[in-house]
Amino acid sequence: MRFGSAIRFWGILLSGLALMVLRLGMSSQSSAAIAAHPGEEVPFVGPPIPPPPDDSTRTIVAALRRGDSIDRSLKQHRVPSHQLERLYEALYAVIDPAQVKPGDYYEIAIDTSDAIRRFCYTPHRTPDRPIEVELQDGQFVARQLQLPLERRVERLEVQIKYNLANAISAAGEGGALSDALVDDIFGSVIDFQRDLRRGDRLGVVFEKLYIGEHFVRYGDVLLAHYEGERASELAVRYAASEGEAAYYNASGHSLGRMFVLKPLAVNRITSHFSSQRFHPVLKKQRPHLGTDYGAPTGTPVWTTARGQVAFAGRKGGYGNLVEVVHPNGYRTRYAHLSKILVRQGQRVQQKEIIGKVGATGLATGPHLHYELIKNGRHINAELINASHAVPILADDLLSDFVRQRDALVHVLEFGSRTWRFASSSTAAPL
Ligand SMILES: [Zn+2]
Repeated sequence: MRFGSAIRFWGILLSGLALMVLRLGMSSQSSAAIAAHPGEEVPFVGPPIPPPPDDSTRTIVAALRRGDSIDRSLKQHRVPSHQLERLYEALYAVIDPAQVKPGDYYEIAIDTSDAIRRFCYTPHRTPDRPIEVELQDGQFVARQLQLPLERRVERLEVQIKYNLANAISAAGEGGALSDALVDDIFGSVIDFQRDLRRGDRLGVVFEKLYIGEHFVRYGDVLLAHYEGERASELAVRYAASEGEAAYYNASGHSLGRMFVLKPLAVNRITSHFSSQRFHPVLKKQRPHLGTDYGAPTGTPVWTTARGQVAFAGRKGGYGNLVEVVHPNGYRTRYAHLSKILVRQGQRVQQKEIIGKVGATGLATGPHLHYELIKNGRHINAELINASHAVPILADDLLSDFVRQRDALVHVLEFGSRTWRFASSSTAAPL
């Protein structure tokens, strides 16, 4: 099956409907594969539960402003203070006071005798998880609710002008979606800073979770197709076993790799790997057995593969160094760090933050020196994933995968309303 031809309808789609919404009306649990982006405005959703119809009860609805505590806000709204201690006791048994943030909102119902009947607190980033405190037999009882989210599958198609995040944002979608594509889905196979070209195209079929008409957060990306001058890849979300969804290319090869391409979120390579040997007479350049990434001091550095910290400390010209041992005879080194955030012996996951960029040791300015070593020999980290064969889905899953892939590609191309998932556990049935 070829996917070059799968996209011949791009022109029509781009000139026509840029975004197609399929309301599948599924109710979802908390399928929060993508967290809301920190910079994103989450709309005010309003009180999730209407106030009691009793006229003798007054209800106050308010949002916390910057610098507000719940206590300050309630007192500003002249809520009688005699019950507040008990209210907080119940509330903070369920949430951590540190989670209270500006933009969160609450609703409080007070009866004619100035007694609090009900208090409902809604974190603005997780409006599907309000905390309700009610008076039961003279006691305040708090519980966290889980409101049903509507899951909608949407389709997005963009042509790249400058960069991926920019193109996605111009199409009205948030940074969390581009982060998921760049870092997680294509993170081991496409280097978007190196390989992205103006005119490249991206198509995505993805989930958005709503309460009513209000977007809450992204669900899963189901399909992503990047078609570029230098790099092209199809990514299909598929669960090979219960609860273990991952991304596969068109032929069923996993897009996950032992190593992600980069140890940090910036990609200005200031010095490439070079095995050129030092020649003392000709005074030629020393070999550079790593890749240097220019980045501001403090930029987080992550492990490129899971493993165990073999060294964390100061080491000569490396300055502050973290060395990690990985399966199959691999080691990675992260040098010149301003801060080390792991200890020797600690187990680390792929993409776990282990330190921060700095200029310690022999460094003229802040950068990360990253080394990859296989069985004692330095190798070029920029090429690591190109040469690695990856497992393909087992035969018995492959036909199921192909059905799901084709259904999703069909949604991307035609936005068919009759689209249904194949019998996979990746998504809830319609
Ligand atoms: Zn270097």
